[in-house]
Amino acid sequence: MNPYEMFVKQVDEATPFLTVEPEYIEILKYPKEVMEVSIPLRLDDGGVKVLKGWRSHHNNALGPYKGGVRYHPNVSREEVIALSSWMTIKCATAELPYGGGKGGVSVNPRDLSPAEVERLSRGYAMAISRFMGTDIDIPAPDVYTNPQIMSWFVDTYEKIHGKSEPSCYTGKPVEAGGSLGRGDATSRGGMYVLRELLKEQGLLGKDLTVAVQGFGNVGGFAHKLIASDLGLKIVASSDSRGGAYNTKGLEYAAVRKHKTDTGSISGFAEAERVSNEELLELDVDILVPSALEGVITAANAPKIKAKIVLELANGPTTPEADQILADKGVIVIPDVLANAGGVTVSCFEWIQGRTGDYWTEEEVHQKLDKKLTTAFHQIWKIKQEFGIRTRQAAYVRAISRIVGAMRFKGIWP
Ligand code: NAD
Repeated sequence: MNPYEMFVKQVDEATPFLTVEPEYIEILKYPKEVMEVSIPLRLDDGGVKVLKGWRSHHNNALGPYKGGVRYHPNVSREEVIALSSWMTIKCATAELPYGGGKGGVSVNPRDLSPAEVERLSRGYAMAISRFMGTDIDIPAPDVYTNPQIMSWFVDTYEKIHGKSEPSCYTGKPVEAGGSLGRGDATSRGGMYVLRELLKEQGLLGKDLTVAVQGFGNVGGFAHKLIASDLGLKIVASSDSRGGAYNTKGLEYAAVRKHKTDTGSISGFAEAERVSNEELLELDVDILVPSALEGVITAANAPKIKAKIVLELANGPTTPEADQILADKGVIVIPDVLANAGGVTVSCFEWIQGRTGDYWTEEEVHQKLDKKLTTAFHQIWKIKQEFGIRTRQAAYVRAISRIVGAMRFKGIWP
């Protein structure tokens, strides 16, 4: 099942609990439009390589399209469409005034020099420039893109249009129109949601162990915040080259230093080496997939020992695995809720850029906490009411909002 088929199945699994006309569900199963671009990249050696990129607009019933841009060799049209569909659900989950979009380029940025990454980024921003804008589609960072890349995107867009338009992209550096609190927002939002779940279960303050897959923007901050703010013990951490495991815990600053010094987590002193596959099956209380999609499948779900899965990555659990985990009594906090903190603070950044009124970090944290705590409890209520999985409950709530807007707007042309 590819990620797009996963999305369609997830929608189908929510529909029995919705009172919605089938035509709206059918519309939700397709992206409204997808742009495919070819980007000729001038290499440092003078040669040229043509790269493929996409930008998908899934649904804009609730507002302009919103979603990140991914640079990864596995990026494909289907993946970008699926990620844009999940953004539609996610923005509705967090009650943001947005629909869902997503973009990506099939490339391994680690094979490129910084100057080549800049030329690629400007080339992509140029190629999609007529497909986006502050009130149309607002991209942001995702896997292997970052605030520096957002700045090149904005600069390119502003030079094409000859005007200042800081809110055409979010996830920018604070010095260049970004919001305080955006850097760790995805992980912080996940931490707030996890806190609420632990409260519900009477587990807050208990000695719990956590394994985090991925040590990028999301996984790195998750490691840090879940330990510092919830007092839980992170016993395993990983990146694309493998992971480290120590039942006594992995101190964030030491792991960060090892990663900075060696380029990888694998080989961290006083820890056992584990593969990314082994990490998922460790004997821990909480598993936090924070890298790529499709890592928890029907093959490894029966072997997962964690009792809670907090999906900070997009689409880490296949629908079959979701059911297997539910049957084992594992609570999966779905991506559309668990990682909605990133797009929520992106929305705050968009508002600040449009008004010129910039908020303190504390204000950002408070507003984020309020939004995601509210979303968690509303979803939890639906889950209890229907006796369904958390993901189904999140989709029920999100689709009700989206279709609520679609009904009033009508089906036209
Ligand atoms: P990132 O580029 O900062 O980090 C990606 C991490 O994944 C790195 O640690 C990398 O080593 C690791 N990785 C790559 N390939 C891997 C593999 N095959 N096995 C294990 N690890 C691998 O990206 P990010 O922004 O942290 O995004 C991670 C996930 O979170 C993605 O699924 C992304 O869609 C999702 N997400 C990101 C944001 C955001 O604000 N950045 C928001 C919501 C969701």
